[in-house]
Amino acid sequence: MAHDFSRINSKEMNKLNKSKVLKLIFEGKVLSTGDIIKQTGLTAPSVSRLVKSLISEEGLVKHSGIGHSNGGRPPFFYDFNGSGRYIIGIDVGATYIRAVLSNLDAEILYELEVLTEREKGYESVIQKLTDIIGRLSNRKGIDSGNIMGIGIGVAGLIDKKKQNINFSPDFQWENVSFYDDLVKNSNIPIYIDNSTRLMALGELGYGIGKRCDNFIVVNVGHGIAAGIVMDGETISGSFGHSGEFGHMTINPCSEIVCECGQRGCLEALSSGRRIAETGRERCFESPLLVEYCDRNINKIDAKMIADAARSGDRVANEILDSAIDNLCLGIRNLVNLLDPEMILIGGGVSLNGEIFFNKLALHMEGKLMPTKANINIVPVTFGENSTIMGALTLVLHKVLNFELIN
Ligand SMILES: [Zn+2]
Repeated sequence: MAHDFSRINSKEMNKLNKSKVLKLIFEGKVLSTGDIIKQTGLTAPSVSRLVKSLISEEGLVKHSGIGHSNGGRPPFFYDFNGSGRYIIGIDVGATYIRAVLSNLDAEILYELEVLTEREKGYESVIQKLTDIIGRLSNRKGIDSGNIMGIGIGVAGLIDKKKQNINFSPDFQWENVSFYDDLVKNSNIPIYIDNSTRLMALGELGYGIGKRCDNFIVVNVGHGIAAGIVMDGETISGSFGHSGEFGHMTINPCSEIVCECGQRGCLEALSSGRRIAETGRERCFESPLLVEYCDRNINKIDAKMIADAARSGDRVANEILDSAIDNLCLGIRNLVNLLDPEMILIGGGVSLNGEIFFNKLALHMEGKLMPTKANINIVPVTFGENSTIMGALTLVLHKVLNFELIN
């Protein structure tokens, strides 16, 4: 729907223009006042007033140098100033809760990690998160008034409007008032989103998004999901539940029933959980796996299978090949449906590095139409920090839009 600009008052227009200038400077797309005038179509006096305010009032822009003169006054260069304001980013994983305090440049100043211990229940996780927020917002030398917001990533279906969790199979939570329970103990604004969508958002803010507007992040971990970025925006769907790539049917004739109740979902065939389960089922075919797990098959996880495959173990290679071949069928569907420029792969299984990506390249061969065959499929930029970078970006975008600064 088109905006009705006649109803935007001058204060709002000023905010919109200031945000437009700030975003260009943040993205490194402009250097000087002249560039800003060219790219925004604003007048020279407006641009110098906005830049002056961004430097001396909000402190979000700084001088970065002086260019060469072409006869007249040499141009001033500008840069984003991410120091002096802070963000807390938290990744609520099934095993660990990891959290950071960073400045707006995503320079991590403090970080901490605690065991999630989800078996202790929902209240215990909320208490841990409240403690973490307290510890990170009370650091020496940090004025907590300058912490702009807290971004939190959690696996599951998150209500787009209320930011509560409708369903999280990883935590066995159904309709929990996650946001409401956290916000009552915090005077810092809190924002929550799905952890895979945040991986995509983190790429948009601090990673590949600086040069690519259409990409998909595939998270291959305990489960499988996708974070979709189209035209520079993450896609969340009507309820905030988009990206459940793991429940795309890959083989309806499969015997394997997914946690969602259907047969042959991608997650049931290719996730870290499935790789580990198959390893346990086939363990006694492989002397190396028996040795690795010390005859305790419960110790077998996806990493152990990748390690055994790397050592040339036939069974481990068969398990990984089958999982990755099915993953490639899923990626083929994604590429055909959404036409991304790039596919980025993250999550625990992908962190096994070369063996994972070599197999992926092998199994992708011949699966894509000739026009798409050269699509880049690469690791995510921030490895295990992907969700945290997205949690930081969730707050950064509010700052860039002037939603957190008057
Ligand atoms: Zn499923």
